[in-house]
Amino acid sequence: MTEQNTTPETATTEANAVHHQTKKGADLALAKKAISPDSHKAIHEGRISLEEARELGREGSPFAPAKKAADKNDRSRLCMCQCGRETRGRFATGHDARVKGWIVKAVREGTLDELSEEIQGYAAERDLIRQTQERMAAEERKRQEVAARKAEAQRKREGETAAKKQNADKS
Ligand SMILES: [Zn+2]
Repeated sequence: MTEQNTTPETATTEANAVHHQTKKGADLALAKKAISPDSHKAIHEGRISLEEARELGREGSPFAPAKKAADKNDRSRLCMCQCGRETRGRFATGHDARVKGWIVKAVREGTLDELSEEIQGYAAERDLIRQTQERMAAEERKRQEVAARKAEAQRKREGETAAKKQNADKS
């Protein structure tokens, strides 16, 4: 809809009077069942324009609760984990934990690019990749420490065995 399309009935607000052409248009539209009786009444009262009445349709009423507006605000979408459930947020209840689990597993296994782009975006947004990699690095350090302690203990045992063997050889 362009600026030039502005109808005279919305542009003309002289003393709030409803233009007789508009009233005639409303009468005609009602006769053609293009608008509802409620809309017709509302036009005559200067509450809505003929254009608005046409948008409401033959069943619509300007006095009824704004169902259309409510539907527009209902931005339900499917859960990110693709379970098929509808949700107002990004996840059905509890499913964010499920997706986080997938991300952590994928980072560990190096298969993050197999997850959906949306989930990868979520992983980046929540810093889950770096967090998981840091946890993996900490675990690796721990493993190396344990391995080093084991190796040290092994060397010690071998040293003691060798010393015993030397002593045994002397006697
Ligand atoms: Zn889900």
